[in-house]
Amino acid sequence: MSNIRVRFAPSPTGPLHIGGVRTALYNYLYAKKHGGTFILRIEDTDQTRYIPGAEQYIIDSLNWLGLTPEEGLGMGGNYGPYRQSERKAIYAGYAQELIDKGLAYYAFDTAEELDAKRAESENDSFKYGPATRLSLKNSLSVSAEETAKYIASGEYTIRLLIPADQKIEIEDEIRGLVTFDSNELDDKIMLKGDGMPTYHLANIVDDHLMEITHVIRGEEWLSSTAHHVLLYDYFGWHAPKFAHLPLILKPTGQGKLSKRDGAKFGFPVFPLDWQDEEGKFPGFKEAGFLPEPLLNFLSLLGWSPGNDLEVMTLNDMVEHFYLDKIVKSGARFDFEKAQWFNQQYIIQMPATEIAAMICPQAEALGYTTDTDKLTHCALMMKERVATLPQILVDAAFLFEKPKTFDKETWTKKYKPENKDHFIQLAQVIENTGSDAKEHLDFVVKDYINSNGLKMGEVMPILRLALTGTMQGPDLFDTMSFLGKKESATRIIDALNNI
Ligand code: GLU
Repeated sequence: MSNIRVRFAPSPTGPLHIGGVRTALYNYLYAKKHGGTFILRIEDTDQTRYIPGAEQYIIDSLNWLGLTPEEGLGMGGNYGPYRQSERKAIYAGYAQELIDKGLAYYAFDTAEELDAKRAESENDSFKYGPATRLSLKNSLSVSAEETAKYIASGEYTIRLLIPADQKIEIEDEIRGLVTFDSNELDDKIMLKGDGMPTYHLANIVDDHLMEITHVIRGEEWLSSTAHHVLLYDYFGWHAPKFAHLPLILKPTGQGKLSKRDGAKFGFPVFPLDWQDEEGKFPGFKEAGFLPEPLLNFLSLLGWSPGNDLEVMTLNDMVEHFYLDKIVKSGARFDFEKAQWFNQQYIIQMPATEIAAMICPQAEALGYTTDTDKLTHCALMMKERVATLPQILVDAAFLFEKPKTFDKETWTKKYKPENKDHFIQLAQVIENTGSDAKEHLDFVVKDYINSNGLKMGEVMPILRLALTGTMQGPDLFDTMSFLGKKESATRIIDALNNI
């Protein structure tokens, strides 16, 4: 193991969004690539946004995807606890250290007072910072007696003291040098009234104590990083390296992909199904996606290994993963591409494996669960679907009589004068010696040729009779699957029913 340590640090404020999955994946790839450690830490200090079930959802999602952490929540390790709400006492000590060093201060303004300030300011531009703090209610502006009184009452927050007129520089692994003007920053709260730290304090204390070497996270955290590097400096700690990942954009390319976009565009934006008071949100898993191609698809949202390499196993991704190949600009979410990756993966899967995976669905549908039959079905269908559950949907005619029938094509192709030929052909099929595909192929074509018929007037009719549609796998493979008897019956049924 190298000393590279990365963490995925989601907040259990809802289901894990697909953007979060990509963050987890990049952290995982980076750790694997460098023989480092991938850590799961739960950042649950914001009790007001805590959603029951979200933490378990995150764990279940990572497990399903195969992005299993080596260390962290549920895995153990020497740097625990890995749930921030269980580390409350640790953070208070660090907030105190900042106070003692004069790098943070107590603030006593009520929420209403701050709201009023915001409302007064132009375009909501109010900032609690170098320019305003002395006109607000805090230990820098009120007397020592008053300060002591407020502290005794327990009604205070602790705020970070941002220096005026300074340049704060971040050397980002993806974006290069990013500079912030300290006058643009606010004196962020470090410790809240309930004694809980904010994200900012807890995040950097934990990254430091857990010896995180690389912070790989979404672009939305870039502006907070200015505060974070200042905090590292205030504590006299060595800051980790930072890499801020590009946004994942809506399919239209406009704006960040959101929770609601799934319903809007008709595709999942979560790994697993999720239900909350806003409704039910479908997951990739339940929509029939497999973990590896989903990760493959996500890996390329913002990263490219070069050499036109697209279809990759998780190991390939690890092999080719470099932070400097991640781009700065947002990556458009293209659901069709996700389907394409899933399809490529299915094509490469052994049919027996597919058979095992679709067996429960076959059982639920009341179809045969015979392994040979399902394997045969998988072989016929695997190049024709984007997801595994689609196999039994599209190939329902292999297991039951067709429920829908393409009458229009039948009317176009069917020549009533050939009816007797079809009746005879059904008999030939039923009475022939074998169910083998090649044999049926030979027998039918032989009949067509010796009776002066044309392929184009027979084959579409047979296909429609057997499957109800013009789409489907090889006709003789289908016939072989159904068997001589069932095939003959369907031909006669079609002739009688139309
Ligand atoms: N808890 C933050 C989140 O929910 C983590 C940000 C970070 O990785 O520092 O995304």
